[in-house]
Amino acid sequence: MLKNKDNHIIEPLFSRDLIEKRVSEVAKQIAADFKGKKVLIIAVLNGSFIFCADLIRKLGGSFEVDFISLSSYSNMTSDGKVKLLSNFNQDLKDKNILIVEDIADTGNTLKFLCNLIEESNVKSISRCVLLDKRAARKTEVKIEYSCFNIEDNFVVGYGLDFNGLYRGLPYIGVLKIK
Ligand code: 5GP
Ligand code: MG
Repeated sequence: MLKNKDNHIIEPLFSRDLIEKRVSEVAKQIAADFKGKKVLIIAVLNGSFIFCADLIRKLGGSFEVDFISLSSYSNMTSDGKVKLLSNFNQDLKDKNILIVEDIADTGNTLKFLCNLIEESNVKSISRCVLLDKRAARKTEVKIEYSCFNIEDNFVVGYGLDFNGLYRGLPYIGVLKIK
């Protein structure tokens, strides 16, 4: 339990070891499914940078990676409007794309990104998330790979922030403001 001067309480949810174990298992699944295929990972910044860094090191050297910066959150609510802050700089045509995202919450961000990528006539699109918050979903979106299902709580750590804080925590915890 971490409590700082802003009265933020972080209740641990997934430990560093458990995250490592699940990321390895999901990486194995992805490596098997895409064996012999060329894949471009598109990681959604900022939240997925640590997850993606761990995942890609478990996938080995044959996966390419690029980044896109999207935003839909202010404070602790997703406002539904996804903003494109910066785009990938390459032609996606005929590529197998694997989107790597920190959380599927309402689903708006993943939906927005899939629609954007589909405009490029890609060969395939798959989605991989660290956390799946099913209960908060507002738009249906397919998710092929997920490390953990979580309840509709606001979580931080392992790349996930609250107003810029807590990305560096090695575990994932539920943020409560008392
Ligand atoms: P969606 O578009 O699915 O509603 O939201 C997706 C984005 O909102 C995620 O990529 C993530 O950046 C942010 N988000 C959703 N839930 C949480 C949460 O519990 N904690 C944090 N830190 N970000 C979240
Ligand atoms: Mg995100």
